[in-house]
Amino acid sequence: MMRTVLFGPPGAGKGTQAARLAERFGIPAISTGDIFRANVGQGTALGLEAKEYMDAGLLVPDSVTNAMVRDRLTWADAAEGFLLDGYPRNPDQARELESMLDDAGVSLDVVLEITADVDEVTRRLLSRAEIEGRADDTEPVIRRRLEVYAESTAPLADFYRERGLLVQVDGIGEIDEVTSRLVEAISDSSA
Ligand code: ADP
Repeated sequence: MMRTVLFGPPGAGKGTQAARLAERFGIPAISTGDIFRANVGQGTALGLEAKEYMDAGLLVPDSVTNAMVRDRLTWADAAEGFLLDGYPRNPDQARELESMLDDAGVSLDVVLEITADVDEVTRRLLSRAEIEGRADDTEPVIRRRLEVYAESTAPLADFYRERGLLVQVDGIGEIDEVTSRLVEAISDSSA
């Protein structure tokens, strides 16, 4: 049973690591980016609303994102734990998450930050763009996503450090190596 948040710059490999950790700890990985992309793909009202922001590399408005996560966390699979990938993405969302969990009488166990330098993540994103063809993996949009990360999301490190929850993990290296570092960080934090 573990309630955790994973954050890190676009291209740091969050999605890959989130799936591995979720499997390992038997909890669902909840990726707000994946949920938004599924809604865009299905042409739902939520997808239509999110798409313009995603395509521009901007955050979807907090009101929309918070409501979506609040609902997702009520699903039965999240009752015993979860790994949030891509949420919260700014301190306001982090405060909102705190209040959602407070309402449910639970709290986060650990927050994992995957660190990677800008040149490395830019390179990764541009090469992924060729493989996956994600609409927001073009150079100007990648640049914007990195700016939004630095401005809005990076302050989460201080937010969670103040609460004694932050663990930083180096995201540079082989995928398996980074997974091992994360698993170790989780084990240390619960020791
Ligand atoms: P990446 O980390 O590579 O940018 P994600 O799949 O996590 O990719 O997110 C893709 C896009 O989805 C973001 O650029 C943003 O538009 C939207 N999004 C995802 N999570 C959030 C969130 N918590 N708040 C606002 N927008 C979000």
